[in-house]
Amino acid sequence: MAGLSQLAQQTTDNEHLHQLIRHKYRLKNTTGYAINSLIDFDDPVEMLAHLMIGSEGTLGFISSVTYHTVVEHKHRASSLVFFPNIETTCNAVKALKSANVAAVELLDRRSLASVSQMPGLPDFIHQLDDNVAALLIETRAANQQILTTQIDELETVLAQFEQTNCIEFTTDTTQCAALWAIRKGTFPAVGAMRETGTTVIIEDVAFPVEHLAAGVDDLQKLFDKYHYDEAIIFGHALEGNLHFVFTQDFSTEIEVKRYQDFMDDVCQLVAVKYQGSLKAEHGTGRNMAPFVELEWGQQGYQLMCQIKSLFDPQNLINPGVIINDDANAHISHLKALPGADELIDKCIECGFCEPVCPSNGLSFTPRQRITSYREIQRLRRSEEDPELLHRLEQDFSYLGVDTCAATGLCADRCPVGINTGDLIRKIRSENNAKHQQLATSFAKSFGRMETATRMALTVAGLSHKLLGNKLMTRLTGGLRHATNNSLPLWTPYTPTKAKSKHKRIKFEYDNQVSPKVVYMPSCASRTMGPAVIAAEQRSLPEVTYQLLKKAGFEVIRPDFSGQCCGMPFNSKGMFEQADLKRQSLAQQLLNLSNNGEYPILFDTSPCKSMMLEDDIAGSLLNIYEPVGFINEILSPYLSFKPVDETVMLHVTCSSQRMGLHDQMVNLAKRCSTKVVIPEHISCCGFAGDKGFTTPELNANALASLKEQVPIGCTAGYSNSRTCEIGLSHHAGIDYQSIIYLVDKATSASDSHSI
Ligand code: SF4
Ligand code: SF4
Repeated sequence: MAGLSQLAQQTTDNEHLHQLIRHKYRLKNTTGYAINSLIDFDDPVEMLAHLMIGSEGTLGFISSVTYHTVVEHKHRASSLVFFPNIETTCNAVKALKSANVAAVELLDRRSLASVSQMPGLPDFIHQLDDNVAALLIETRAANQQILTTQIDELETVLAQFEQTNCIEFTTDTTQCAALWAIRKGTFPAVGAMRETGTTVIIEDVAFPVEHLAAGVDDLQKLFDKYHYDEAIIFGHALEGNLHFVFTQDFSTEIEVKRYQDFMDDVCQLVAVKYQGSLKAEHGTGRNMAPFVELEWGQQGYQLMCQIKSLFDPQNLINPGVIINDDANAHISHLKALPGADELIDKCIECGFCEPVCPSNGLSFTPRQRITSYREIQRLRRSEEDPELLHRLEQDFSYLGVDTCAATGLCADRCPVGINTGDLIRKIRSENNAKHQQLATSFAKSFGRMETATRMALTVAGLSHKLLGNKLMTRLTGGLRHATNNSLPLWTPYTPTKAKSKHKRIKFEYDNQVSPKVVYMPSCASRTMGPAVIAAEQRSLPEVTYQLLKKAGFEVIRPDFSGQCCGMPFNSKGMFEQADLKRQSLAQQLLNLSNNGEYPILFDTSPCKSMMLEDDIAGSLLNIYEPVGFINEILSPYLSFKPVDETVMLHVTCSSQRMGLHDQMVNLAKRCSTKVVIPEHISCCGFAGDKGFTTPELNANALASLKEQVPIGCTAGYSNSRTCEIGLSHHAGIDYQSIIYLVDKATSASDSHSI
């Protein structure tokens, strides 16, 4: 603290440095340390707190953060305005600075071109002149009236500037989302078109707004000079903060030199010519560390060095980041991105996918899977270190392959659309090549496997009843241990055999007017009933039949024994067998649904996503999982009265990937007065049968679940029977299909009763 106070005094006494800091922080600036804290505060604790922000682990680490959030207004409108050149665009930005705008994003011509193939874009995007640039503008307000006034004012401001085209302000959420998708699509667009072996670099500079047009112009000239033909510029125009994205090969000296010269010129342009910020909102890192002194001058840089040695005199924590004596740090130790498999070659190792991965913290994240696989493939090609290769392959088998749920949630977060699960299933397929015949005979005798599963669950259920929770857990745990974990995990929430009482349910419907549905109970719900300790003992097919009966549906219900969407095979990389099952089921459903006339209900969400991969099912059949079916088809036939209970909700990966998250939450809210969606849980990691065979994956993904179950809450809902087993076990309350909740909260609608 004393050291900080002393540095603060020194800075205040140094008129030149003091003025420099004031001057530079009129712009967004994250180059080096936040030395403005030394002149903004008198209290050294405040100085310390503000220096820590953006210090990138070089001064210490922040173990937890509390955000004070701002109001998120519901009423919003967005517009995309095109100007004939960058100068007019930047003049419009200056005029908008004092207007009521929440965001003004600049897109240069090349970034517009990079996303021109995106669906939903107007045709004129393809005919824009070479100099055109655009502003994506958003305004927000507390109510519609204020919003309308703001839009009028903005349109008046914009009318002063020549425009080539304009997508006028819209409040339609879908249209707004489409406009913002253009902006968000630029970075992935460059990432997706890059050549294998190159990486994507994103820079983050700020120009004083009065120099924004000249700055963009000069940057574009540098792209031309160094032949970065694909480089694009976009950014937060109000602050003069621009990002530029380009692809770079680091595999040859010539390419590294090109990058070095380009960066030298960029830094001169931004920091010296325009007195801007080399980093405006991202970190300085190693790449910009050699240029901190260029931007801050010798005195500013020395001050930062003093701060570093005050916190970390031996330079132990995150050395080389922000403060680095090596003028070539940005071109040293460059990591190559060698080609490994076309499924993952576009990966830029950004790590956006990591938070949703259920194995994060247990084994590998998607990024780590890709990085390791790249190295394995490189070693396989080079043959330079067979021993290392062998060790990596051995470790990868568990860390990379066995502990991947393969549900592909990572793909939704990936800017270039990589589904690491696809790579893992491909590897599983290669590993399983020798078991193909066996897998085919399993697929053909799937009905017998169902019977065997039901028998095993009967035995387990009876034993559970006889022995009770504790003894059964101990006994099965011991057996699993003795067999080196080859027996599946048993928990008190392991299902019993599904009873077939539903077959006895009689339907009353009017043949002429009653709506029809083909109901396909999944193989999981045909075999797995509720756990012995579950409060609700009806099986999922029984509840589904009763719900459909209540709504007055005629249910087409043949015996589906032995039929399956193929998911159990697909997740293990047995693609041929998965196709076999899926095609056979699709053909049966085509007949039953009168060539797609009647909707088809699967009671488990992953089955729908799997079936959609089939040509017939994807194009001719109306396939639903529970949430979509209830919302779109069943709702008009039911009256909803929410139950006065707190319920937990888990949206499965397949539902998330099919865009059903909000629908499912809304449906749960129609059925219950309080719905809790636990934080930081994405994929539950049960992954079909991994919850039985690799239960640590499920435990890792759901580690924070139990503590988020409110006191008094006794029920959870989801829409996949297998996921519900693990959710129940780790939450300590019973999870069941959302169909149970809907059944509980509804009665037959008067207007549709027959
Ligand atoms: S796979 Fe992960 S690390 Fe790789 S590009 Fe996609 S989000 Fe980034
Ligand atoms: S498929 Fe799932 S488990 Fe595998 S890497 Fe992606 S998010 Fe992680």
